[in-house]
Amino acid sequence: MEEDRLFLVRIYSDLRIQQLLRRSATMICFDERGVVSNVELIEKTAILCDSCGRKVAVTEGDLDEGLPMGYALCDEEYVIEVVCEDCRRKYFKHLIDRVDGFLDLLADPETDFRVKLIDYARIRGEVFEFCRYYERWLGAPLMERLKAEIYEILEEAIDWWGRQEIYDEMEG
Ligand SMILES: [Zn+2]
Repeated sequence: MEEDRLFLVRIYSDLRIQQLLRRSATMICFDERGVVSNVELIEKTAILCDSCGRKVAVTEGDLDEGLPMGYALCDEEYVIEVVCEDCRRKYFKHLIDRVDGFLDLLADPETDFRVKLIDYARIRGEVFEFCRYYERWLGAPLMERLKAEIYEILEEAIDWWGRQEIYDEMEG
């Protein structure tokens, strides 16, 4: 099965996502006999962070008013989660820094490849733990996909640098 890519989008910069989020909800009421007694359209007055419940900025005006930046985590079709700036940092920043650090280590010619392999094993473990931990809030399917995408990046990197190492050895 082809997996969709995930995007983290600033809501204010994307009209299509704003429209998706703003779409009013439909509430249908039934009476005791199971007959529809009332249908109500509920306009959304605010978009909230799915993690901490704070109101997030949807437009540039909201940002000017001091609301935290709102991000939508989307795939090609759906908005999966809305997160505020703080929650984005908390969830994703540390891990992204850690992956960056690992890629820098890989690119460092002074570091022995065995050391790089050890760090590779370590970071895979950290990604695993991260995804398991946040599954509770962000859901297992989403974290499975995130994990698979990060693993793929790590694998490609270690593979590429591993081959470089072998060429260097053959030439040297
Ligand atoms: Zn939040």
